[in-house]
Amino acid sequence: MLRLLAYLWAAPNTAIGLVLVLLAVAGGGRTRIVSGVVEAYGGPLDWLLRRLVPLPGGAAAVTIGHVVVARSAPDLDRTRAHERVHVRQYERWGPAFLVAYAIASGVAAARGGAAYRDNCFEREAYAGREAHAVREADAVRDAYAVDEQNDHVIATRTPETQE
Ligand SMILES: [Zn+2]
Repeated sequence: MLRLLAYLWAAPNTAIGLVLVLLAVAGGGRTRIVSGVVEAYGGPLDWLLRRLVPLPGGAAAVTIGHVVVARSAPDLDRTRAHERVHVRQYERWGPAFLVAYAIASGVAAARGGAAYRDNCFEREAYAGREAHAVREADAVRDAYAVDEQNDHVIATRTPETQE
């Protein structure tokens, strides 16, 4: 139920994102759904993200509601943890997110910081990406621990490390 509300609350932004997805598909781009988020890449998105995002060199990926558009599939993989934090931000702020984001950039610049990197939403996304990386490392370690319990990795052990 809460998930449904989160999707509805972010829906006006998602609708904008889906227009980009349609453009991408019409221009030969690809699309897929990864953990409840529509991801699109390629086609005209490469040019759009390079030229129309007001950052030096453009952006590799941009989140609009429950849609993430990226230049390429590797860009989607590389930016997923960061962009998922933005998805959660859209779920929190709903239709007000883009305005709130613009205000946060203005506040960052007024304080003498960078409009992008010091924007509080970006700071949260960059911090979230790092937390995600730590969780991933923990998950890999835990998976190994489980594997060891099951003796699945015993064949890869060298004789010296076997007990
Ligand atoms: Zn970001």
